[in-house]
Amino acid sequence: MRRLDHFMAAANAQYYATRDPFFDFTTAPEITQAFGEVLGAWAAVAWGTIGRPDPVILAEAGPGRGTLMADAMRVLGRVAPDFGRAARLHLVESSPRLRTIQATALPGAAWHDAAEELPDGPMILLANEFLDALPIRQFRRDGDGWTERHVIDAGFVDIVAAPPSRHAEDGEMVEVCEPAHGLMRALGDRFRHHPGVALFLDYGPAESAPGDSLQALRDGAPVEPWVSPGTADLTAHVDFSALAATARKAGCEVQGPVPQGIFLAGIGLFQRTGQLAQTQPPAGASRLIEAARRLAEPDRMGRLFKAMAVCHAGCPALPGLESSGAAS
Ligand code: SAH
Repeated sequence: MRRLDHFMAAANAQYYATRDPFFDFTTAPEITQAFGEVLGAWAAVAWGTIGRPDPVILAEAGPGRGTLMADAMRVLGRVAPDFGRAARLHLVESSPRLRTIQATALPGAAWHDAAEELPDGPMILLANEFLDALPIRQFRRDGDGWTERHVIDAGFVDIVAAPPSRHAEDGEMVEVCEPAHGLMRALGDRFRHHPGVALFLDYGPAESAPGDSLQALRDGAPVEPWVSPGTADLTAHVDFSALAATARKAGCEVQGPVPQGIFLAGIGLFQRTGQLAQTQPPAGASRLIEAARRLAEPDRMGRLFKAMAVCHAGCPALPGLESSGAAS
């Protein structure tokens, strides 16, 4: 019997080390090159906002195939060569298999096992669909007491537990992602000494909501999380408001969360898509436009996915994140 977060950490480590995750799910950078390109331009503006430090750490957590950063770097070379020259590329990746793929896409990068291990200094960090892969604990309120979910060979079992630091009504489940909160506290420590911005794009409601959001995907289809651990991708909704509260308590400023569709439209996804489409024959142009819509339309990835920046105290407003408090 294992606590859910211990089970999820081991299962995902094995999954990312041995399988091609992009067979089971598709992420925004794999859908259109315009995603990484506008994020590259966003990072260049963010660099200006934090005072153009040189050198600056340009980091990505959970880079997958390295597609986002490769698209971003290509744009930087053209539109913000000063930033391109100042940027030192650092990747946070636990999977040796994905590191090999990233090394081909991003020669010259340095790798780290955890974001807490990134070197000191001013930093711009990007993380797309990273937090959702981090292990969660699940607690259920049961009258005056609480239980915590554990995994056994053929299912879940709920064991009496100490209460989490969260409120719930009787019978409700709450989820806590301890490593994500640890990362917010680590950002607080770092941003006390150096300016910086960390942009998280992921899926989850804008306001904390009770319920079981653990999901397992194998070959693109939902499966029971406990069956054949390491062969399915395990994810959970990101609790943006809980993470924002921890980041603020750690001394950070938080901008957003903003629905991904609003964020991407605000930072030029459709303009960039229009430019790219002009260079393509009609079928390629339609594919690019359809891909941008998939990322931005509210009933697709535009509303459930959010963008949230965690930055040093006093950081001026960053592009695309001005409209906050949007509905989940
Ligand atoms: N950002 C990419 C990939 C998302 S999949 C994209 O958008 O396509 C999640 C990524 O996070 C993978 O690269 C995975 O190996 C990495 N990852 C998952 N858990 C991790 C952990 N605990 N520490 C470091 N990297 C992790």
